[in-house]
Order: sequence, then C-alpha cells, then structure tokens
Amino acid sequence: MANTDRVEARFYTRDGDGYVCGLCPHACRLKPGQYGRCGSRRADEDMLVAYSYGKVSSMCVDPVEKKPLFHYRPHSRCFSVGSVGCNIRCRHCQNYSISMMSYGKKRTTYESPRELVGMCRHEGQDIIAFTYNEPGIWFEYIMDVMAEDPDLHLVLVTNGFLNEEPLRQLCHVADAFNMDVKGFTEEFYGRICDGHLADVLRSAEIVHEEGVHLELTYLVIPGLNDSEDDVGRFCEWVRDTLDPDVPVHFTRFHPDYEMTDVPMTPVDTVMRCREIGMERGLNYVYVGNVLTEDGDNTYCPECGEAVVKRLGYLVNVVGLDGDRCSNCGHRIPIIR
Ligand code: SF4
Ligand code: SF4
Repeated sequence: MANTDRVEARFYTRDGDGYVCGLCPHACRLKPGQYGRCGSRRADEDMLVAYSYGKVSSMCVDPVEKKPLFHYRPHSRCFSVGSVGCNIRCRHCQNYSISMMSYGKKRTTYESPRELVGMCRHEGQDIIAFTYNEPGIWFEYIMDVMAEDPDLHLVLVTNGFLNEEPLRQLCHVADAFNMDVKGFTEEFYGRICDGHLADVLRSAEIVHEEGVHLELTYLVIPGLNDSEDDVGRFCEWVRDTLDPDVPVHFTRFHPDYEMTDVPMTPVDTVMRCREIGMERGLNYVYVGNVLTEDGDNTYCPECGEAVVKRLGYLVNVVGLDGDRCSNCGHRIPIIR
C-alpha cells in the first residue's frame, strides 16, 4: 500500500545517476530534481516518484453520457475525478488549467485511496471516472483506489498515449474507456498535440483485444482534421481494425487555450462526419457539443428503430429488451 508522502513510480529503469520512465511512449530520461514532460513524475536521488499521487484537482458527479459513453450503463451517473498534468500537449486543451503544469500551480487536495472511495460511496455512486486531465499518468493512484474497493466500476477517459504493459494492467481493472483519436495523421499529432498517432491507435487495439468496453472520441477541428479523407480513413480503421460496433463520437471544437484563432466547428461539418462514419459502415456514430434531433440517438443497425433516445443529457431507453432490439431482436452492444 502506498506511502502518502512519496510513492514510488511503477515502470521505470535506472540510467546512470538518473532514470528512464516507461509509463508512456515519451520515455523521459530524468536526472535527480527533474520532472517528466507530464509533470506527474519526479526524479529523486533514490527513486522515481509518482509526484501527482493522490493530488485531486476536480471532483464532480455527472452523467456517464458526458464522458462521453453512450453504450455503457445509459442514464447512470459517475463520480468523476481529475488530477493535474498531461503527457501530451494539445494546443486546444479545454482543461489546460489542470493539464498544463506550467500554466500556474493549480491547487490540489490530497485524498488517500480510502478517502476517495469513501467520497464516491457517500455520493451513492458505484462508477468512478478518472477524467479531466490524463488518467494514465495517475497509474499508481488508480490501481490503489481500485484495490481499496474492487467492486467499484472504473471508467477511464484517456488520450491513449500509454505504453502497453501499464495499459493492459489498467484494462484488468477497468470497465469502460473513452479514448480520444485526435486526428488521423502523424503530422496532426506532432504539430497540434505533441504526441504520436500510431501509439494511440495501438492503445485502442489493446483495449479492444482485452475485451474492455471502448468508445472513441474525435474532436473535429475546422481546417486541421476535418477533411473527408482523414475522417473517412479514421472510420475505415475503426471498422477494419476494431469493429463496426465500436461507438464513435464526433464532437464540435470550441476555441480554447492556444487555439482561440480557430473558429468553432460548423454544425454541418460535424453532421457530415457522422454521415461519413455511417457510409463507411460504422453502426453507432454520434455527434457531441451539438444539440440535434437524432445525432445522439442509438438506432438498431438491423431494422432502423430507435432503441435509445438522447437529447442533451436526457436519456430514454425506448427499444431495448436486455441487450436486444425490442423490435427485431438484433443484439445491440450496450452494457446496462
Ligand atoms: S509518463 Fe511522464 S515522465 Fe513518464 S515518459 Fe510519459 S511524460 Fe515522461
Ligand atoms: S490529452 Fe486531454 S488533457 Fe491532455 S492536453 Fe490534450 S486535451 Fe488536454
């Protein structure tokens, strides 16, 4: 069990008088006194420290649809928790006040795993979601929280930029992932996010292979990742490498952080992305940050009947018998 002062990081090796971190593909080399690119790991003389362990910046009970997760326990609420730091650096990050450690020191409070679980249960929730900033860099804390209360259901909202071994370990305790695919070229990831597309796609494959529920989010940014070619290739990749049943959310960009010069995504563009997804054979494609009549509903891909209707966070399960369409009996992959 963790020492609350200094918790040793997992996944690192010694390198002369310093360390190489093995948690994410950046593989930071750190000398004593240095912090990793994520800001969440610090090299001390005697060990690499999980510096953000237990440091909580944000807590809220909110709908699971907000993650977004549409095929995981519809109409549930979850106890959502965030820390500070991120291992990539999106120029449009909406949570930059907590994700960018360099952007002023965000106040945090220390909550032990037992305290956090106690708060979650006190709120009457059995789903805990690690979200807001990147949860992968909170690996040790998340594992200790789940060890404290293994009956909790774990949701991770992640950028997917994590190495295989820690990701597989998280899969063994997680119930659902929402993973961002932020664009579909390495050029986009390098220029806008300081990350790598190939690593993220591999992570999505691992979660899918491990049999953990997965939904993908693609934030559509005008002129940067919204071409028919990029969106089409992304959808084909989901269809061919994962499964046409993996839910995909195309969400609307709002100007933020270092990208206030880029306009909000036109609604038509987001709706067109949804059409492209359906044309490419994806069965469950949704839009986000847009209020539409039908863009958030789940339709049976066999008979076309609405099985779940959503308007904002109003959710109405209208056509499901267990996990079957109540009209035609087709299996709809929604965990209830
Ligand atoms: S988790 Fe942080 S310290 Fe480790 S390699 Fe990634 S960015 Fe570097
Ligand atoms: S991955 Fe998420 S939290 Fe991290 S910088 Fe990008 S948008 Fe912000």
